[in-house]
Amino acid sequence: MSPLVIIGAGLAGYTLAREVRKLDSGLPVVMVTADEGRFYSKPMLSNALAKGLSVEKLASASAGKMAGDHQLEILSATRVTAIDAQARTVTTGSGVVDYGNLVLAVGAMPIPPPLQGDAVAQVLTVNNLDDYARFQSQVEQARRVAVIGPGLIGCEFANDLAVAGKTVSVIGPDSHPLGRLLPPAAGRFLRDKLSAAGIAWRLGVTASEVNTAPGNTFDVTLSDGAVINADVVLSAIGLRPDTSLARQAGLACGRGITVDEFLQTSAPGIYALGDCAEMDGRVLPFVMPIMHGARALARTLTGGRCAVKYPPMPVVVKTPACPITLLTPPAGAAGEWREAAVDDGVSARFLGVDGELLGFALAGSAVAGKAALLKALVTPVT
Ligand SMILES: Cc1cc2nc3c(=O)[nH]c(=O)nc-3n(C[C@H](O)[C@H](O)[C@H](O)COP(=O)(O)OP(=O)(O)OC[C@H]3O[C@@H](n4cnc5c(N)ncnc54)[C@H](O)[C@@H]3O)c2cc1C
Repeated sequence: MSPLVIIGAGLAGYTLAREVRKLDSGLPVVMVTADEGRFYSKPMLSNALAKGLSVEKLASASAGKMAGDHQLEILSATRVTAIDAQARTVTTGSGVVDYGNLVLAVGAMPIPPPLQGDAVAQVLTVNNLDDYARFQSQVEQARRVAVIGPGLIGCEFANDLAVAGKTVSVIGPDSHPLGRLLPPAAGRFLRDKLSAAGIAWRLGVTASEVNTAPGNTFDVTLSDGAVINADVVLSAIGLRPDTSLARQAGLACGRGITVDEFLQTSAPGIYALGDCAEMDGRVLPFVMPIMHGARALARTLTGGRCAVKYPPMPVVVKTPACPITLLTPPAGAAGEWREAAVDDGVSARFLGVDGELLGFALAGSAVAGKAALLKALVTPVT
């Protein structure tokens, strides 16, 4: 029997392998991964510095341990370079592997910052354990860190760096952090709480250049002409689904690899899960969609046929200086935000044209209202 082949050993790949094993102990499963295949929780990367966590601590199991625990054959440090959907094979640096079904769990790549200057190559991004190791070793020696991108991941790193005692500047075009996710009052509340934690904001501007400066430092030039000098520059302007392998194999792609409700791509027997996938025009680069998707896909791959149904999946932003929980309204939904200040917090509800609750954003003490708002949702939204 040709094996189930999973490309990628991130949360999507390993969660799927675990779910498959719950249903079928005999199906041969081969995992091919470009990295070392160590299991780790990626969300911890933006909260690990202040806790002094090393890569060794973050990686909770080796590829060998994961292979033993879940009866997998893991080809680590092995990149898949091509898929032949007709012949049902994948080509790797060390040979060709046949598959019965194939799952792309190849994740997303940091968007390269649109910067000029002689030090662009030294701007850091953190999206895996190797990136984190480089970040941790450089930040250890640093006093001042410039973070480009006041989104979810940028704010989490900024808060963590501040707790670790660094002087942090955060640069971004919006008038408040999490500009695309939070309405104004909740955004201002987050901004002020993070200011109180020591973060200096450079909002309403973009970074245009990063150049080397004396003393092993960097000058970050902003669109208003100001220059920030820093020891380390971190870019957190977002991730883009990795569609390179899928496109080369002729699979339909939009922003991510296009899948239907069974997580099947445009080719029979080839599926996609996690940060690389796009369903109904949406990418959902979070842990909860992976958990729900993996459970449904495991059923489909072991002889059932199970469509994935996502419940409302609120996102918790890991900024301890200002807890945030949000459930974004569906893209393009008609309606408006209604914000209310509560004691040391802001509660924002997104109401549709008929007054129905379609999303929410809770900041500070208002996060305690999450359960009640989830109950009040009339339409499941993600
Ligand atoms: C700093 C940070 C903090 C986050 N915090 C949260 C949070 O608090 N809550 C939340 O819900 N989500 C959070 N996320 C998002 C969440 O971590 C991701 O949605 C999830 O980890 C993605 O898993 P994945 O398996 O799809 O991708 P990845 O973990 O990126 O795995 C991709 C795998 O594919 C392999 N691969 C790629 N191409 C090939 C190839 N050609 N051949 C072989 N192997 C290949 C890679 O080596 C890797 O093993 C965070 C993300 C980041 C970066």
